Amino acid sequence: MLIDSFGRTLDYLRVSVTDRCNLRCIYCMPSDGVEHQSHEAILRFEEAHRFCRVVANLGIRRIKITGGEPLVRKGVVPFIRALTAIPGIEQVTLTTNGILLDRHLDELAAAKVAGINVSLDTLNPETFRRLTRLRSGDPSASAAPAVIVKTMERARSLGIPVKVNCVPLRGINEGELARIAALAEKTVDAVRFIELMPLGYAAGREPIPGGEVRTILERCSLLLCPTAECSGNGPATYFAVPGYSGRIGFINAVSQGFCETCNRLRLTPDGQLKPCLASGTAWDLRTLLRTGAADSQIAEAVTQAAAMKPAGHWFSAITDRSPENCKDTAMFRIGG
Ligand code: SAM
Ligand code: SF4
Repeated sequence: MLIDSFGRTLDYLRVSVTDRCNLRCIYCMPSDGVEHQSHEAILRFEEAHRFCRVVANLGIRRIKITGGEPLVRKGVVPFIRALTAIPGIEQVTLTTNGILLDRHLDELAAAKVAGINVSLDTLNPETFRRLTRLRSGDPSASAAPAVIVKTMERARSLGIPVKVNCVPLRGINEGELARIAALAEKTVDAVRFIELMPLGYAAGREPIPGGEVRTILERCSLLLCPTAECSGNGPATYFAVPGYSGRIGFINAVSQGFCETCNRLRLTPDGQLKPCLASGTAWDLRTLLRTGAADSQIAEAVTQAAAMKPAGHWFSAITDRSPENCKDTAMFRIGG
């Protein structure tokens, strides 16, 4: 079992398979795009699979595939299928912006993906274009977000649990949070509101605190009833709403923090193992994977990285907004 020096059991790994994305959300990427890592720099799927097999032996039980946009990388669904077959791995889930989801759904269901999180910050097509910087000439532009909602319904009809992740943004989607929450009435299993974290290209942007989002929803007559439920791998607090089959969740990453119960490690696309989202510390697993290291050496490096997991992060301490630092702590690089 992987236990860090603060007694937390680490059983959850987020694997970012690419730093590329078909969107450029305003809080995640710069407007002029980014210089992507070269193909050689990115772990091959066989390398990432071997890493996952080694950490499964150390007690990792759940894996989330993320990015960048994971579905832009060719071969990601067979990779997911191969991960679900690793002894010890109980769940492989996916986080996506939903643009390419429909075409992969049947294959994902066959691969036994245990759940899909769809990031959807707005239901308004115009706001969607503004927020994601999707060009209006792009064929997806006229269809999103309505098509993404239809895709989520289809995913559930295939038996895949679906959660929506929404980042409330002042002056952008503030006015439609109740409408987004209403997706939990019958369309998805949960809608989770995630406080904007001041990392990467979001440094300097003010989050809307979860408490304020709750007040906004209650003013729109949503009765939020606390539940003891802990759904999934994350730090969300869930509420039931009378008449809704799904739950409403809050991930108050900034106003409350979730470090005390953090159970995760992160693997970046280029094979750096990060014990904490907000810390610059990373272990270079790619070099080990590419220089003939034995599984035991890889396991040793992971155990060391886990032991060095910091007690927590302090977003307020992140003051460096230089382009270099934004790039290094960008969510599309780390995997959100
Ligand atoms: N492209 C996929 C997607 O959008 O779901 C996966 C990667 S994306 C980096 C993962 C999640 O991180 C998304 O839900 C996105 O909204 C969230 N995210 C990105 N930057 C964030 C920030 N600064 N604070 C909070 N969440 C953020
Ligand atoms: Fe792409 Fe996801 Fe970042 Fe948006 S949040 S730019 S979809 S990686």
